[in-house]
Amino acid sequence: MNILERYHAMEYGPAPEARNEADAWLAARDFGKALFIGGDWKAASGGKTFDTSDPSSRKLLAKVSDAGAADIDAAVSAATKALPKWSASTGYSRAKVLYSIGRAMQRHQRLFAVLESIDNGKPIRESRDIDVPLAIRHFIHHAGWAQALDRDFPGHKGVGVVGQIIPWNFPLLMLAWKIAPALAAGCTVVLKPAEFTPLTAILFAEICERSGVPKGVVNIVQGGPEAGGAIVNHPGIQKIAFTGSSEVGKIIRKATAGSGKKLSLELGGKSAFVVFEDADLDSAVEGLVDGIWFNQGQVCCAGSRLLVQEGIADAFIAKVKTRMSRLRVGSPLDKNTDIGPLVDLTQLDRVKGLIAEGAKQGAICWQPDSALPAAGYYHLPTLATGVSPANILAQEEVFGPVLATMTFRNTEEAVELANNTRYGLAASVWSENINLALHVAPQLKAGVVWVNGTNMFDAACGFGGYRESGFGREGGREGMFEYLSAKLPLGPIIKPATSPAQPVEQAEGGAIDRTAKLFIGGKQVRPDGNYSFAVATAKDKLAGEVGLGNRKDIRDAVAAARACKAWPEATAYNRSQVLYYLAENLSGRADEFAVRLTQLTGATAKAAREEVELSIERLFLYAGLADKFEGRVHQPPARAVTLALHEPVGVVGIVASDNAPLLGLISLVAPALAMGNTVVAVPSEKYPLLATDLYQVVEYSDVPAGAINIVTGSSAELAGVLAKHDDVDGLWVFADAETCAKAEAESIGNLKRVWTGNGHSLDWASNEAAGDALLRRAIEVKNVWVPYGD
Ligand code: NAD
Repeated sequence: MNILERYHAMEYGPAPEARNEADAWLAARDFGKALFIGGDWKAASGGKTFDTSDPSSRKLLAKVSDAGAADIDAAVSAATKALPKWSASTGYSRAKVLYSIGRAMQRHQRLFAVLESIDNGKPIRESRDIDVPLAIRHFIHHAGWAQALDRDFPGHKGVGVVGQIIPWNFPLLMLAWKIAPALAAGCTVVLKPAEFTPLTAILFAEICERSGVPKGVVNIVQGGPEAGGAIVNHPGIQKIAFTGSSEVGKIIRKATAGSGKKLSLELGGKSAFVVFEDADLDSAVEGLVDGIWFNQGQVCCAGSRLLVQEGIADAFIAKVKTRMSRLRVGSPLDKNTDIGPLVDLTQLDRVKGLIAEGAKQGAICWQPDSALPAAGYYHLPTLATGVSPANILAQEEVFGPVLATMTFRNTEEAVELANNTRYGLAASVWSENINLALHVAPQLKAGVVWVNGTNMFDAACGFGGYRESGFGREGGREGMFEYLSAKLPLGPIIKPATSPAQPVEQAEGGAIDRTAKLFIGGKQVRPDGNYSFAVATAKDKLAGEVGLGNRKDIRDAVAAARACKAWPEATAYNRSQVLYYLAENLSGRADEFAVRLTQLTGATAKAAREEVELSIERLFLYAGLADKFEGRVHQPPARAVTLALHEPVGVVGIVASDNAPLLGLISLVAPALAMGNTVVAVPSEKYPLLATDLYQVVEYSDVPAGAINIVTGSSAELAGVLAKHDDVDGLWVFADAETCAKAEAESIGNLKRVWTGNGHSLDWASNEAAGDALLRRAIEVKNVWVPYGD
């Protein structure tokens, strides 16, 4: 055998990471007292425990306290008790605690990494080089936010006691993403790790004990769905932050509806990995290995759908197969291992079941001819070709080492296929042509887009999804907002409509002075049901009749809003000019609107005039801000810049209340429009004539057809239709408490972003009810990572 032959024949030797320290830690702990509540270690009050085992050997690691409702109650009490002092402490003192946690974690970095790999099964290279350093960076980065709170978030305060529920795939990292911003904001927390992976959270609680975290500020309760449910439903909690499956996310959305709890959901994904024919194919293959086989594919943002341009598909797939054959499946503690075991038998069975179903639906599933270790929940990396867009492997989140492959012909088709999913977490775009990549990135419905890269994360850059991947962001400035609240000035409580809109038969022969129609797709249209309802003046005389919109009218309005591309694709400068023009035209008819306000609401002439003037001022404000409420560029500690782009939410439903019927409507519609959203507005039920007068102004103000749609009728009924409509991306409801709660509960179909006043109106005349607070609700932040250098 010559040297070259010897070199090629060389095998990897074992390179095990030492586990003695982890074993010593496991042996020394009493896991029967694993609930960290109010600074003490407690057993579950019911005495229950659950098993956590090593997925590479199936051996039991520990029997861990399993919290029940009484334990959650105790944890919430401890967090509530600790809140006043912690939230009143200076940013500097909280920064010192966060920094101290980060430093203490650094000192125990290897122990964290080994425990994480033993408990979860992830290769030590990943836990050592990615999970643990990123978790530490999160604490140190957020020390800075604690101190910068007054400067960067004026008028904001921590939301209070926060309930946090995390999954098993990145146990320590998800804990850091949750706890660091909460502590920086002055909140206290009750965090529940996933039942498969409790260990690093227990070690983290020990770090808290030693890092000057006051008792009760961080409470960590181990347990399963029962404990999770008790957190979600606890009345002493002001915010729920959840990371996990879309299925459980929807349960939580429903359970918290109407409770006034702030909510952020980081859910599942089915992210596209798009390879154009001018990509550096070898780099793309390496990226793909990271994209789908990182953590055995148990990654929310895994690039599980490979979309490859037709001309290079065969060559690329051949390269992928060659690379797959070289992936080393083995012990997570071996430093040469690429793929470890899945977390649990249930996960292994689920992955196998989905592959079998995918194959039944026509996919050809290929696996390398590699041996699997005897024990443990191992699964070979799997490549599915011949996958139709409707195949289960292209649609469902497998959460395992399975890649579904499809081809595309041109850019348009690539975007269409990439967006053909109900999720919207991440995407990866590969092309040596940066112009092409940056042309495609904004078209992808995903919260994070990596150009020529994948799985890049940083504490300074927001992470989170669109659509059924959830809402809210973790990391960076936008992540801090999730733990802060600014008191918006409240208006009156909104009572349910006393006499719900009564249908009145269309009168024949012109007996009625005027019947205002609906405004859909830039046209005045009759309501589908051909009913109208009477609108009374302040003196209880008939002011006119307006169309009684129904489900079908909302459907038409949503379709018109969705079809309107001219508005979201217009430049911000262009949108700004249209809003200025709208203000100018409203100003030209100010007298008429003031008279109408007085006639309908009984407001004095002076008050009515003020409302009209303020409405014009608001249009001016948002016209001016349309091209100023912009994104940012982050410079993470990597050879990359991250463009945090502000994108419109999409189609936004708006339900306005009777309080300040003109100003209230304009205060909601104008910021939504300024950011490029298209709108379906349900105006005040009692005074709809102001809105029907307004659309006449809209008609000659250069607003593209479909950008604003107005459907008059019963607020409660139409809010419900908007909530259930899966093509509505955002919904803002100012109506009675029951309608608000229902809107939240019924929004789970597509997990639209719902903002309600919880039965209150806002004081629309106040300056605090205008500006950034509304613009933030009108956008999604998309983070586009652009690496540089050779
Ligand atoms: P899961 O939804 O089953 O469980 C997540 C957590 O919720 C666990 O702690 C679990 O005990 C708890 N839970 C379960 N039922 C509950 C209920 N009814 N009420 C309250 N809590 C409940 O998810 P999983 O299997 O642990 O994790 C995998 C999922 O997490 C995947 O869908 C993945 O995409 C997602 N994930 C998302 C992100 C992200 O940032 N978007 C990050 C990691 C994982």
